[in-house]
Amino acid sequence: MRVFLFLDYDGTLVPIAGTPDRAVPPPELLRLLRRLVGRDGLRLAVVSGRDLEDLRALLPMPGLYLAAGHGALIQAPGAPPRVLTRVDRARLDRLTRETRALVAGESGFLVEPKAFSLAFHYRLADPARVEPVLAAFTALREEHCPPPDWELIPGRKVVEVRPAGVNKGTAVQHLLAAWPGAYPVYLGDDVTDEDAFRALSGRGLTILVADAPRPTAARQRLTRAGALALLHRLADEGPAALTKCMV
Ligand SMILES: [Mg+2]
Repeated sequence: MRVFLFLDYDGTLVPIAGTPDRAVPPPELLRLLRRLVGRDGLRLAVVSGRDLEDLRALLPMPGLYLAAGHGALIQAPGAPPRVLTRVDRARLDRLTRETRALVAGESGFLVEPKAFSLAFHYRLADPARVEPVLAAFTALREEHCPPPDWELIPGRKVVEVRPAGVNKGTAVQHLLAAWPGAYPVYLGDDVTDEDAFRALSGRGLTILVADAPRPTAARQRLTRAGALALLHRLADEGPAALTKCMV
């Protein structure tokens, strides 16, 4: 049995942090991922909204597949990165500048420009300021990065503007196509992971990582601790570990 294991990063492998730069992987997580990468019959991809350079710095290990920018860019080990979308940088840069100006007098909002998108975090903001500032941000997004070429993705205390048409589902399909016959297993916690759950509908094991049930296209749900326990079993036993959780 060949297993292609796809893992989201933030909220799945590490807890959501106040700001993204604090979500650093602990040494035991890096050890676990290295063991998974070294397993026969198993490929491991981290599928994230983060930039490629960011993922490489967080997860320095040969043999790891990466899908960055919500699937805008994929990289197989030893191969050059492959861009799956184009982005109108000028529009995204204008939105970034005006969003920075919007929150210049505010505190707790974080403007995070990425290679293929703009993330706007409000986790640390005064709750009373969130609604008016998000309304103003939505107006800026409508002006500079409107649909249907762009889409606005709600996340966990973050909204993100990205080019339409590329997502974690398309990235997963690209990676799977390069390893025919592999059984896909996908673990993720966020709304952007739902694209991958739908893309894998009927052909693999999809697991929502969440403490409480919620509407999802995933087949199963695990807590983050449960998800890490499954990864440890996969690292110990290889793909055979899955036969127990597929019943
Ligand atoms: Mg996540």
